[in-house]
Amino acid sequence: MAEIPPPLPKVVPKRAVVIGAGVAGLAASIRLARLGLQVTLLEKNSSTGGKLAEYQEKGYRFDIGPSLFTLPHLVDALFELCGEEPARYFRYMELPDMCHYFYPGGQRVVTCRDRGTLDERLAQALGEPPGRTKAFLSHSEMLWRLTAELFIFGDFRRWPYLRRAMAQIALADLMRVGFFSTLDKVTRRFFTTQEARQLFNRYATYNGSDPYRAPGTLAVIPHAEYGFGAWLPEGGMVAIPRSLEGLARRQGVRILTGTEARKVEKLNGLWRVETALETFESEILVCAVDVTTFFTRIFPQPAWRRKLIRQERSTSAFVFNWGIRGLHPQLGVHNIFFSSDYATEFQSLQLQQMPEDPTVYVFISSKALRSDAPEGCENWFVMVNAPAGFPSDVGKTEAIKEKILKKLNRQIGFNISGQIEVEYVLTPSFLGSRDGSYDGALYGAASNSPWSAFLRMPNQSRRFPGLFFCGGTVHPGGGIPLCLSSAKLMSDAVARYLA
Ligand SMILES: Cc1cc2nc3c(=O)[nH]c(=O)nc-3n(C[C@H](O)[C@H](O)[C@H](O)COP(=O)(O)OP(=O)(O)OC[C@H]3O[C@@H](n4cnc5c(N)ncnc54)[C@H](O)[C@@H]3O)c2cc1C
Repeated sequence: MAEIPPPLPKVVPKRAVVIGAGVAGLAASIRLARLGLQVTLLEKNSSTGGKLAEYQEKGYRFDIGPSLFTLPHLVDALFELCGEEPARYFRYMELPDMCHYFYPGGQRVVTCRDRGTLDERLAQALGEPPGRTKAFLSHSEMLWRLTAELFIFGDFRRWPYLRRAMAQIALADLMRVGFFSTLDKVTRRFFTTQEARQLFNRYATYNGSDPYRAPGTLAVIPHAEYGFGAWLPEGGMVAIPRSLEGLARRQGVRILTGTEARKVEKLNGLWRVETALETFESEILVCAVDVTTFFTRIFPQPAWRRKLIRQERSTSAFVFNWGIRGLHPQLGVHNIFFSSDYATEFQSLQLQQMPEDPTVYVFISSKALRSDAPEGCENWFVMVNAPAGFPSDVGKTEAIKEKILKKLNRQIGFNISGQIEVEYVLTPSFLGSRDGSYDGALYGAASNSPWSAFLRMPNQSRRFPGLFFCGGTVHPGGGIPLCLSSAKLMSDAVARYLA
């Protein structure tokens, strides 16, 4: 897809301060340094990466944030932008078995990228009439073609993107994108079995949303996986921020970890960012932290805060990282153990309750990266969705763990509890305090309404000149690929601002 090139700034160098060194802040810093700005990146934690973090104990290594890596070329693009060969610093492998799905009724499906094979597998395992899966994936691809350039890699609020979209998209096509339908209604149109619908409804959770309320447009998400593949970086997911940190440093970005931005103000046309030890001044300020947290704690603006907290949060999660003795050949890198009633599960989440029968996700990177667990062992990252802000006391966390163990024991057919030798737990409140995510929401505001995309904070503030935004809580949304896109849209906006 051809990029719309940003205009080159006339006056350089200027200073930019970027707050937050998650994947978005790192990508943003690299891009701003390429524009010729002097960039300082402030990170409150002791390392960069934000949600892309890891935990190690007794020979086990866990990625304790994102686990599914799609659209890897967006990371490569940053190296290419800086004239470097990506594979020298960052390598990744494709996972031929994308995800192992386990149903309460005993059915099992392993998904793969080839549409014909996938269609056959769903027909055999779930009884889905042949051709349905292929048709759905073609629909997803069609949505990608119609919407990606405008809503993911572009900004629908800006005339150049709109003009290009209007030139390429027929009015009839617009009627097919499903703005006013729901993802569940779309999957009902394509699939006859509840199991196949559940499999593809699950894609709403890729941005923390509810398939029974999120717009049918979210049927675009499967194409990111089936069209472009599921990948795993060598060295694990943390290889993404680590390689980007190296690239940022080579571009001259000053990275200060353990440096929390405590207060921001604008004085005499310059942004001032206060930290415990130093105050930084700059012409450009980039917020690469949760935007609600920014307008609540760092740059308090009651009107903006009110507007942002009115929006429904995306889901948070409880994650149990377990070092497991023993090997489990029936599992893959990515595994889903579905609930028996998906609609009830999401109703509970909407009511701010933990579902009685939650869908359980198990990520085992040691299946592909052997050094991630000791010989004869596996590193399980076990996650269930939770309402954002859900209380994280010990009693509640233990009750959730028991539920998960019971379900896994029943569905896999053996007792896992006795095999756990390492445990590291993440709760919604832990996620909230570690990354500064408001209420521990994984993806900022949820996409549960047709208007969600339009309510997201744009990448440039209209109210405060020189203030820009990127990351999972602003346009175009959450997840690694969208964060990388937001950094590009933001730096394009900076280039226009300085031109
Ligand atoms: C458990 C989990 C599973 C996920 N699974 C996936 C997945 O499989 N695939 C996928 O693509 N996405 C997934 N995501 C979402 C993805 O991780 C995020 O969308 C993305 O990492 C957000 O990046 P970011 O840079 O916007 O924000 P963050 O990663 O949250 O980075 C923000 C940074 O700002 C720092 N910060 C906050 N306040 C301050 C301050 N005052 N001063 C200085 N620094 C500050 C934080 O410490 C943090 O480092 C998952 C997220 C979680 C938590």
